[in-house]
Amino acid sequence: MPFKKNLKQMLFWVLAFTLFIAVYQNVKTADKEKEIPYSEFKAKVKAGEVMKVTVRPDLIKGEYKDGANTASFRTIPLTDAKLVEDMEAGGIKSFSGEADKSWITSLILNLGWIAIFVFLWWFLFFRQAQMGGKQAMSFGKSRAKQQDLKKQKVTFKDVAGCDETKEELNDIVDYLKNPKKYRLLGGELPKGVLLYGPPGTGKTLLARAIAGEANVPFFTSSGSEFVEMFVGVGASRVRDLFERAKKSAPAIVFIDELDAVARARFAGIGGGHDEREQTLNQMLVELDGFESNEGIILIGATNRPDVLDPALLRPGRFDRRINVPIPDIKGRTEVLQVHALKIKMGPDTDLNVIARHTPGFVGADLANIVNEAAIMAAKHDRKFVEQKDIEEAIEKMIAGPQRKSRLISDSEKKIVAYHEAGHALVARMLPGSDPVHRVSIIPRGPALGYTLQLPLEDKYLTSKTEILNKLSILLGGRAAEELTFNEVTTGAHDDLSKVSNYAQKMVMEFGMSEKIGPLSLRKDESEVFLGRDIMRQPAYSNETAKNVDDEVKRIVQECFVKTKGILTDNKKSLDAIAAALIEKEVIDAAEMDAIMKGQAPGEVVGV
Ligand code: ADP
Ligand code: MG
Ligand code: ZN
Repeated sequence: MPFKKNLKQMLFWVLAFTLFIAVYQNVKTADKEKEIPYSEFKAKVKAGEVMKVTVRPDLIKGEYKDGANTASFRTIPLTDAKLVEDMEAGGIKSFSGEADKSWITSLILNLGWIAIFVFLWWFLFFRQAQMGGKQAMSFGKSRAKQQDLKKQKVTFKDVAGCDETKEELNDIVDYLKNPKKYRLLGGELPKGVLLYGPPGTGKTLLARAIAGEANVPFFTSSGSEFVEMFVGVGASRVRDLFERAKKSAPAIVFIDELDAVARARFAGIGGGHDEREQTLNQMLVELDGFESNEGIILIGATNRPDVLDPALLRPGRFDRRINVPIPDIKGRTEVLQVHALKIKMGPDTDLNVIARHTPGFVGADLANIVNEAAIMAAKHDRKFVEQKDIEEAIEKMIAGPQRKSRLISDSEKKIVAYHEAGHALVARMLPGSDPVHRVSIIPRGPALGYTLQLPLEDKYLTSKTEILNKLSILLGGRAAEELTFNEVTTGAHDDLSKVSNYAQKMVMEFGMSEKIGPLSLRKDESEVFLGRDIMRQPAYSNETAKNVDDEVKRIVQECFVKTKGILTDNKKSLDAIAAALIEKEVIDAAEMDAIMKGQAPGEVVGV
């Protein structure tokens, strides 16, 4: 094939070159010959200046004496019976006739053009039509790509911080590596493996790593590829995908974002989705259709295992479900290490500290942070990534990019300073709350300021006291504003919505209100999401609803009173922190310590 293509290309260029030469010659000679009127020609003939003439029916060419030189000329012949006579009389040494070649030349020239047009047409339309045809023909074919394993090999080494998950997946890898071993014993292996977990935890990466480890063909596709406008296309794509996989078994078929196609049937508001349903049915048929020892394993990945159709999760289908969790501190360190290998890290960087500061971050976030830090370092023309680059990257992720350009009036700045000082002070005064890492009144993203608290360790359980402390800290901003300015602003809006949310959860979900008791009143939100139960009545009475409202109100009110008490008792410290903030815009934990001990900036004047 490539040879043929080369030949065609060569032919094309030869043709183009010849044509160019022909046209060029034509133009050039025409240029050299001086076009003179017939009368002048006749005059020159009579004067005996003309030396050579070639007569064609449509053109007379020749040479004449022009002083000491000879010049070429051309002219259009007229009907002139006496031309030969005159030429003899003029003493022209050589004159001859020539057949009318011009039509042949022009034909060849035109043919050349025609050839070029035909060629171009073929090139542009025919070939594209051919390809388009192929595409049209393959509408029902799966778009799944077979990954080239040699090209970009991902292995378990590239996936960090989920050792248990990898442990579970090792069985699958082992089976794909030597299916015979398992066949001999007659054991049944899972046909389908479902990787589930929050977005960005590395599910897609893990699936690719399985293929890399097992070294088998890997067909990847995404659930959305099966949801087309036309009913039946998705189903036929599923069929095609499995056919292809069977041909190259042992193989892995990977369907990312499985929930796009495999949502529970009859779930959507306004009835089912025919196309999706057919696709899902076809998938079930395929899963049932091959024996587990055929060497094909279907891997699905989803963030929403709860919305998958239950039929998919039955034994013999996706019967191995593997959780890909949010990494803990050790996991985060490992993920950071994996990604730090790709960039130049300076000697002062400490990934353990970074990991400690990033609870709740998933692998994708951490990869992003490392990348951002590298960009940050490059921006500052540094040779290595420094710890402060990483820290800045984290803050950027938490709160959006620093908005240095935004101007804030002095009075606004003072309000923001007191607001943040309120948060920070309450956080300091309440025992057991996370240490304040930094307070800033530099606007970031939508927030005008922020108080960054960082936990000392990962927590999986939160006590009632901790939640109440959190509420108090959140209310600290508003309380400080009220206390200082006898006026409140909209600045606390985000805090307040968080407060209401937490308080409601305490009462309705966590059973932390004595009046309501240890009940969970909230339905599973995923069900509402599906629309399945959207019409269902709440599972509690109006009286309970009122009690819930009262309880939420009481909790928030009590926290607010407590917060205001703390701030009133420590008004001096509040002023000092606010003053320091107005001056420096950012203060860290050490500076805050100093202020609290009364060693730093004093009162604000004119509060
Ligand atoms: P998911 O499919 O779970 O949403 P991805 O696998 O697409 O997440 O992860 C996105 C990116 O985040 C990966 O390409 C990788 O760079 C990074 N990442 C996520 N989890 C991990 C991990 N456990 N170890 C290393 N990198 C990770
Ligand atoms: Mg993914
Ligand atoms: Zn606030």
